[in-house]
Amino acid sequence: MDDLEQFRETARAVCKPFPGSYWRELDQTGAFPAEFLKAFTEAGFVSTLVPEKYGGSGLGTRAGAAILEEIHATGADGAIAHAAMNAMTAFVRHGSPALAKKWMPRILAGEKRFISFGVTEAAAGTDTVRIATRAVRDGDCYRISGRKTWISHADHTDLMLLLARTAPQTDRRTDGFSIFLIDVNDALKRGMSVSPIKTMVNHHSTECLFEDLEVSAECLIGEAGSGFRYILDGMNAERILIGAECIGDARWFIEQASGYAGTREVFGRPIGQNQGVQFPIAEAYAETFAARLVVERAAALFDAGDDCGEEANLAKFLASRASYRAGDVCLQTFGGLGFAVEADIERKFRESRLYTVAPVSNNLVLSYLATKVLGMPRSY
Ligand SMILES: Cc1cc2nc3c(=O)[nH]c(=O)nc-3n(C[C@H](O)[C@H](O)[C@H](O)COP(=O)(O)OP(=O)(O)OC[C@H]3O[C@@H](n4cnc5c(N)ncnc54)[C@H](O)[C@@H]3O)c2cc1C
Repeated sequence: MDDLEQFRETARAVCKPFPGSYWRELDQTGAFPAEFLKAFTEAGFVSTLVPEKYGGSGLGTRAGAAILEEIHATGADGAIAHAAMNAMTAFVRHGSPALAKKWMPRILAGEKRFISFGVTEAAAGTDTVRIATRAVRDGDCYRISGRKTWISHADHTDLMLLLARTAPQTDRRTDGFSIFLIDVNDALKRGMSVSPIKTMVNHHSTECLFEDLEVSAECLIGEAGSGFRYILDGMNAERILIGAECIGDARWFIEQASGYAGTREVFGRPIGQNQGVQFPIAEAYAETFAARLVVERAAALFDAGDDCGEEANLAKFLASRASYRAGDVCLQTFGGLGFAVEADIERKFRESRLYTVAPVSNNLVLSYLATKVLGMPRSY
């Protein structure tokens, strides 16, 4: 039994009351997984990446990855679990003790939902340093104006981390950005509006408009101008967690595919007896097995405080590709039934597909490996 088995076991227990039918229903109606988020919070999982000094369990990324992997391996859509855990990173690493004291107890108790992260803008896309949202200092306040897109769960969050430009661009392209902790309920009354974007996944994607929103300077996370570095700082953890979620998805696909292949009979024998059916499943298993080792290695390096840029990027890339391929193989193995909503395969296929694109596209991961690891010239 590995030392994380107790967390895996608890994660499975948390997911037990939320079978495929729960996620299917939410997917079809576009409803928010409030009951699941409550159970996740009550299990203490929101505090996984929060240090003990802030009332968290301080378990770290290895434990977080194990929990999220296990949640996805049950067939759940763990996007909200990821959001609740991951949003903490910049806040606990760089936020002031006063902010932590004000919000952390309420977040950890589940009274406040801290699940949204406002970075992406339509015109900038992947080139985040081109974002146009501005926060201008005005006495004890900042005035924020701009438009964010693709912000997940903003219509169900109490708190949002928001990236905005606070100083003009210099030679260092990543300078001049700041992160703010936005009290969403308050902001909605005074200059913030949220509108839904309908997508192929039940991700509660939104567009958020900020029109001269005044926030106290106390909402600033860390130092003004350093926000982009704080985002970069949290990226390795995010990539590791996403990698673990993809491994969970891949495990689920492989379990479904191998189970079905063993029982579905065509031409008087199980389809899984045909090597044309079993080899792709075995190949998906091999790819997932290897990717999982890289996710685990990246998480261990991160928790030890060692450099893990290469491993975190490899983990995200390999795991998202493994789950994408496992999903494709699973759908193929189920034949027509894979397309039936009741089988959940098509839902998981759509959900897992996201992770080759978000939170960072795999092309950008390859770009990191090509330039930072292999030393080739930058393409942008
Ligand atoms: C469901 C969903 C949820 C999301 N949630 C959030 C959220 O909560 N908060 C948030 O801030 N953002 C969120 N995002 C945004 C997400 O991070 C971006 O969609 C993603 O980073 C890609 O950016 P883009 O969509 O602008 O693509 P673009 O930048 O327009 O890129 C389009 C394609 O071109 C490729 N490309 C671009 N430049 C290059 C290059 N130089 N070399 C090679 N290929 C390149 C990309 O890889 C991509 O495949 C979410 C997106 C989705 C779809």
